[in-house]
Amino acid sequence: MTILLDHQTLTDDELLRYARQVLLEGWDIEAQLRLKSSRIVMVGAGGLGCPASEILVRAGLGQLLLIDDDVIEASNLQRQTLFLPEDIGKPKAQTAAQTLQKINPLVQTQATVARLSDANAYELLEMTAGTPDLILDCTDNFATRALVNRISVHYQIPLLTASAIAMQGQLALFEPSLHTGCYHCVFGELDSSTDERTCANSGVLASTTGIMGNLQANAALQYLGRHKNPIAGKLLLWDGRQMQQRLMGYRQDPHCPVCTRA
Ligand SMILES: [Zn+2]
Repeated sequence: MTILLDHQTLTDDELLRYARQVLLEGWDIEAQLRLKSSRIVMVGAGGLGCPASEILVRAGLGQLLLIDDDVIEASNLQRQTLFLPEDIGKPKAQTAAQTLQKINPLVQTQATVARLSDANAYELLEMTAGTPDLILDCTDNFATRALVNRISVHYQIPLLTASAIAMQGQLALFEPSLHTGCYHCVFGELDSSTDERTCANSGVLASTTGIMGNLQANAALQYLGRHKNPIAGKLLLWDGRQMQQRLMGYRQDPHCPVCTRA
């Protein structure tokens, strides 16, 4: 059996694999087809990127491009769920893509072992067949986060950003075309040379990246499959120590140098 809808189809293999999803109230075949036609660029294939990409690939995303120039280290294995001890020394993006392709061969998974920059952004974004529907920020430092935000605003591609440090995490989904604010509107000018907390200097509990990566995947599925931004105008804050989740409202900064037109 093949169901036809708007020139798109789910194959027998897809119907079988995604059976528990297409039965869902509020998800259905149309949502599955929207997800199948979706393209994501993921910047960072580490603690957040591993769980987020695995969920999205298992759920039936159309196309995923992983960008990461890092190699796997022993200290990554505690939380970077797509890697095994034998992968130490291998490039993260390529290794993750190979595993994801095995997990779900129905999804087109690509990898580029590169560091994202203003100079190569256009070329990398062009690697997906058509403009990406969503950029997932799974990076671990301010400088790359600021760069990904600038790219999101410049190319008008929605940005789903997550962070995880110690036992705390943050999540936001910015839609540049709506002029409702960007990463810079919320966090301002962050100076990476001072006071930057990273997993390397502050530590991170294995569950923090797992939870934030899964929340990021959940927001991506809602956005791509149902065209709903479940955290529009809200920054989600997760505190693993207290098991508490809070939502904090934000607005576009009228003086934001990144997303406000002069
Ligand atoms: Zn802004």
